[in-house]
Order: sequence, then structure tokens, then C-alpha cells
Amino acid sequence: KPAEIPNLLPGVADHLAGEGIEELYPPQAKAVEAGLTEGESLVASVPTASGKTLIAELAMLSAIQRGGTALYIVPLRALASEKKTEFERWEDEGFSVGVSTGNYEASGEWLASRDIIVATSEKVDSLIRNNAPWIDDLSCVVADEVHLVDDRNRGPTLEVTLAKLRRINAEIQAVALSATVGNANEIADWLDAELVQSDWRPIDLRMGVHYGNAINFDDGSQREVPVAGGQRQTEALVDDTLSEGGSTLVFVNSRRNAESAAERQAGVVESHLTGEERADLRELASEIRQVSDTDTSDDLANCVEGGAAFHHAGLAAEHRSLVEDAFRDRLLKVICATPTLAAGVNTPSRRVIVRDWRRYDGEFGGMQPLDTLEIHQMCGRAGRPGLDPYGEAVLLAKDTETMDELFERYVWADPDPVQSKLAAEPALRTHLLATISSGFANSREALLEFLDATLYATQTGDEGRLATVTDTVLAYLERNEFIEREDDTLRATNIGHTVSRLYLDPMSAAEIIDGLRYAEENRGKTADTSPVNRQDGDLERPAADDGDGFVSASELQSNGADDDVAAESDSESDETDGEDDDTDKEPAQPTPLGLYHLVSRTPDMYELYLKSGDRETYTELCYEHESEFLGRVPSEYEDVAFEDWLAALKTAKLLDDWASEVDEDRITERYGVGPGDIRGKVDTAEWLLGAAEQLAGELGLSSRVGIREAKKRIEYGVREELLDLAGVRNVGRKRARRLYEAGVESRADLREADKSVVLGALRGREKTAETILENVGRQDPSMDDVNAAETATAAVA
Ligand code: ADP
Repeated sequence: KPAEIPNLLPGVADHLAGEGIEELYPPQAKAVEAGLTEGESLVASVPTASGKTLIAELAMLSAIQRGGTALYIVPLRALASEKKTEFERWEDEGFSVGVSTGNYEASGEWLASRDIIVATSEKVDSLIRNNAPWIDDLSCVVADEVHLVDDRNRGPTLEVTLAKLRRINAEIQAVALSATVGNANEIADWLDAELVQSDWRPIDLRMGVHYGNAINFDDGSQREVPVAGGQRQTEALVDDTLSEGGSTLVFVNSRRNAESAAERQAGVVESHLTGEERADLRELASEIRQVSDTDTSDDLANCVEGGAAFHHAGLAAEHRSLVEDAFRDRLLKVICATPTLAAGVNTPSRRVIVRDWRRYDGEFGGMQPLDTLEIHQMCGRAGRPGLDPYGEAVLLAKDTETMDELFERYVWADPDPVQSKLAAEPALRTHLLATISSGFANSREALLEFLDATLYATQTGDEGRLATVTDTVLAYLERNEFIEREDDTLRATNIGHTVSRLYLDPMSAAEIIDGLRYAEENRGKTADTSPVNRQDGDLERPAADDGDGFVSASELQSNGADDDVAAESDSESDETDGEDDDTDKEPAQPTPLGLYHLVSRTPDMYELYLKSGDRETYTELCYEHESEFLGRVPSEYEDVAFEDWLAALKTAKLLDDWASEVDEDRITERYGVGPGDIRGKVDTAEWLLGAAEQLAGELGLSSRVGIREAKKRIEYGVREELLDLAGVRNVGRKRARRLYEAGVESRADLREADKSVVLGALRGREKTAETILENVGRQDPSMDDVNAAETATAAVA
């Protein structure tokens, strides 16, 4: 019983009782018995939806109670705000909660006053690099979805971060939450932790395969679900769930498939809807349309009117949460999603259909089956405790052979083991520099000793491989002047420190520095100096990332709160504007397109692939803009290098379109991306350009001015002449353009302008106009004295 748990404030148990939590679930009880609330480290490997969050909360609340603060590490930015909201219910009991997002460089000092801090592993890693003082006060760290240490892109950061936190404070309580995996004992060994392993679920899960006219369940039973002529299996299954009043989650393997499946399912759902539901759905659809004026928004709204929705990483965050909430409220009956949704978003559903169990894999080529763990996490979303008698997870087969394979591979299968991915060059390149820079290790031996405290070493016992990769990476860092070696001592150079604090992959930094130097040296001449960095052809780049399911560090750092970004950089530019006064003697600056291309070819920017026809388009564009590039264009005979160059150009062109006020819709169409991708690229570019600006400053290069302008244009998505206006809070790119066209060209103009003109440009929205005038510092922003309707018509005319 919660009231009997040691080291908890009595209010906590009462609070839980108020939420209907009278008794602990069995895995939770085991965790408490193992000493969870008495400071014991613990690994909990239990199925999805079995109450892992409460395990974390009990650990954190009791740790705070004993003195100190708690850190909760999430794998995705989207989950950070969800968890924060969840933990905020403890504020009534006197626990404060903070979430750390935003720029990497900031040390987040205000967080020191919080009891519980929520952050991604990338963010924590960065805070350690920047010596955030509150890190020393942590007494408990929770790692959510710790099985992701197996992820090629993000796993190593989580692993290194946990190792560092444990090195900073050897007494820290580490609580790792994991889906069911095959080797949780190895994770427990690594963390010197107790292990709680369980198959228990609060609601029964039945897994099965639909083939022919029935679902064949794992317990040998069958359920008739006939597929009518012209119907697809998924449609028949959704129809069947609806007839029992249930909802369905359908997992597919690509965004396009999610969208087209949702459209078809809307057709199935529609006939089951009541009049009231239709009205509510129409309202939801109009909310969705208001979020953004894009095709995706429109497509989503159309599906939603029929009671179905799609969900993938290309959606705007507001769209995602509207869809998730409406599904939890049982208004939406079907979500067709890519596997991103399975990674932690709490959207239980009566039935889960895993329609696609293979996905295109760029690295290995062709369609590859998904991991057992991934499929099991999707299936784990089936069944809403208290609402459904049980959950059903259904895979689809068209023939008996496939049915057998699916049973073998997923239904009967033991969970996969997790395997550390730390010993890869891109991972070690970043983490070794950080480890040296922040003083964790100052010699090769000390580095290897530190690496010895990682899961990789615990699992493999193979120090040889780590030593070899470490030597390759140290040589690279030294060659690019990020570190210096004197006898046995390793030291980060000034630039090395900066690169680490900026959270750049050293390879990105090298590319940027080489590009900026190339521009400096080649201004006005066409010498052929190959940058140092690209000669290292044998260095691995991190795996490319399609933005679905696997999110790169740079994506994770982007700041969702647009207003704040605008406000922050406002003050920044106000402070530094003065420095630019002596720029007339500066040499010509790099162009925005040249700079966008430079940051787009770094490994921190995930790539856009070239589609058929793109090669010709971008080859042509490449020669047109040859003089603008910050680096030598590879010859067309250097196949891979040239192709990469063009792919970066495609991204650069997308950014350039954005900074030239091309409509979001046009951009999504032209580059085959979603609005969420544009946001992701823009945020990443802003971060990388900010880093470039700082590097240029430190290296005494003259391109800072050009970089700053290119960065501001990306930030606001506007041409040069709108930079001043678009920086005003609540203005944005479209309103800035309309104001400009109405003759209001600057902040000064806006402070003086005729109110009716302002109102006309803002399409008669009085409230907006008042807010904007207030933000620009106008004395009397009130619109009371203006007749809105009249002026709006006048302005349009
Ligand atoms: P997981 O993180 O393991 O996927 P959650 O922590 O999200 O699962 O828990 C799923 C649901 O179970 C939540 O809605 C939570 O409130 C509820 N829950 C957790 N523990 C208990 C309990 N002891 N009694 C009743 N409900 C619980």
C-alpha cells in the first residue's frame, strides 16, 4: 500500500489514493521491496503501460525527501513536456518541477531551484559540458526507455551521460526504466543496481495474426473477422473493433502510408459516428486547420472529420497533441501512425494493428523486418485498463507462410537483448572531445578508464576495440586542432572547448571552420585548397536520419517556444549591433545560400535524399552558384562526394526558400517533406549558424556579419528588408510582409503608423494589433478609437 512505503511524505500516498491508486502494481511493489525509496539503484524491465512512471516518481520523491534533487531523462523532446505536465501534479505536495529545453549552450542556472528536472539525454550531456552547477546536487537520476542505449544515433549519449553522472557523484541513485529486454541483468550489472523483471501487465494482452477470415490468437483461439470483397484486412479489423465500441491504433511503416491509410479508415469510421460525434469532430478539424495553413493540416482535418487521423514525426507538435488528446477522449476512433507513436506517448487503445512489420532500410538496403522490441512496444499499447476487457494486438498475413513467420518472429519470440553502440567513431568523436574538454580525463589512459565504466565495457569486456577507436578519434581531434597532446597529457584547445560547449559534432565544426577559412582565403581568387577535414575519407559519418522514429541531437535541441526564441535573440542583437558599425572596411561577405550549404553538409544536419530528376536539377543549380560555395565543389567523378554535395544543396535551397518567404505549402510540395521537417531543418540551421558565428569570432574570421544575417533570416523566415519588423513579438513572416506592403517598414514606422493602416494590414484583428503595438513599445496601443470593419475594407480596397 502506498501509505506503507518508507521515506514518502504522507501527502503523497493521499494524493495517489485520490487518483484511484490504492495499491501498488506487483512490479512497483517489488521495486519498493528492493529499496527503491531508500536510495537503492534499480533497473525495472517491465512491459509497456505497467506503471513504470510511478516507479520513477516514488524514487524521485523519496530522494528529494532525503535531500537533493532528481533528474528524469527522456529520450525525446516531445516527451519532456508530457512528463513535466505529469509530474506537476506533485507541486501541491511542495515539489517543484522544471523542464530544460532550448539552446545547448545555456547552463540553465534557474533549474537549481527545482526539485525535479526533466531533460533529454542530449540536453543533460550539454549541461554537464557547460558545468551546470546544479548537477552536483543530484541525488537521483532516472533514465526512461533505457533500452534505447541500443540506438545507433542516440544510445551512446545516454550511456556516456549516465556514466558521467555516476562519476560526478558515486552515491547517486540510478533508476533505469526499460521495456522488456533479453538482458536487463547486464544493464543492472553496469549500474550496480537491483533488478526488477516482470511480464505482469495491468490488462491482459492477446497477440494474434489475422489471416483469411479470422484472427488466430496465441492461446489457440480464433475470432472470425471476415474480409468483405473490395475490403482490406485493416478495414475489416477496424470495422470489427468499432462494432464493439472500441478504438484502433494502426502502425504502418512510412508517413505516406500513415496518411493514405487514415484517409481510407475515415471512410470506414464515418458510418459508425453519432451526430454529436460528427459535430465535435468538425470542431476539432477546424482547430487543426487553424494550427497552420498547409496541405498536411488540411489532409489531417479532412480525415479527422471522418473520425480517423494520422500521426508521424512530420506533423506539427500542436497537431500531434490535438490528435493524441482526441484519441484518449475516444472522439477519434482510429490513428494510423509510424512507430514514433509507440515510443512512449500514452495512447492506449482497444486494438492495435501492426500492418507493416518491415520497413525500408537505407543502410542495409531493401525492406528489413522490425526488431521484436519495437513490435512489442507497439503491441503494448493495446488495452485500456478499466475500459477494455483485454487488449488485442494483431499482425497481418496474406498466406500461411507469413503467418508462421510472424508467430515465430514476434508472437512467440523472446525479447531482443540490447547492445551498446558506443564503440562507433561518430559517437566517440563527440564524447571523447567532451570528456577531455570538461576535465573528466586528461590522458589516453584516463579516457580508457572512463570508457571502462560504460555499458559497452561491461557487456563486451573488449577493451581492445575501444582502444583502437579511441586512438583513431584522438588522431582526428589532434589533426583538426581540437586537442593538443604534450607527452601523456591531453588538453582541449580553445576552439576544442568551444566546439564541445556548442554541442557540435567535431566533424561538423571542422567542416564549418574549413569552409569559413576557404571563403576567407579565396575571396576574389579561385585557388584550389582542399580543406583538411574532407581528406579524411575513412572517417565514418553518423547514420543518416529520415526524421521518423530516430531523431538526431540537433533536432532534439531545437526550441519549441518560438516567442521565446524571438525574444532572446532580439536582446542579443540589440547588445551586439553596435559592433557592426565599422563594417565598411570588411571584405565581401559569404551569401546566405553559401552558408546554408555549408551547415547543410555537416553531419549534424540530417540529409534530404535526392529523388529521381533531382540530380539534374541540383547539378545545374550547383554550377549556377559555384562561386558562392564555401569550399571546392567535388568533381562529378567523385561520385559519392558529389552526390552528398547536391543533397546538401537541396537542403540549402529549402532553407533559402524559407528565408525568401516562400509559402510553407510550396516548400513541403517542392521538397517532399512535412511542415514538422521544415521546422526541424530551420531550427538545426539556426543552431549551426549560431555556432558558426561564434567559431568565426574566435578564429578572427571576417564572415561573422554575413553569418549573423543569414541566421536571422532563417530564424524569422524573411527577406532582408523584413528583419527589423519580423523580430517584433507576434508579428511573424506573413504579418511582417503585409505591414511592409502597407508602408510600415520598420519598428520605428510601427510606433508612428496610423492605427487604421496597421489594423488593415492585420486583417482587422484588433486584439492582435493591440498586442503587437504594445510589443513594439507604442505608448497608446488601444484600437478602441478605430472602426475595424471600415478600415479593413478600406485597406483591402
Ligand atoms: P509505462 O510507463 O510503464 O508505460 P505508465 O506509467 O504510463 O506505464 O502507467 C500506465 C497507467 O497506469 C497510467 O495511467 C497510470 O496512472 C496507471 N497506474 C500506474 N500505477 C498504478 C497503480 N498502482 N494502480 C492503478 N493504476 C496505476
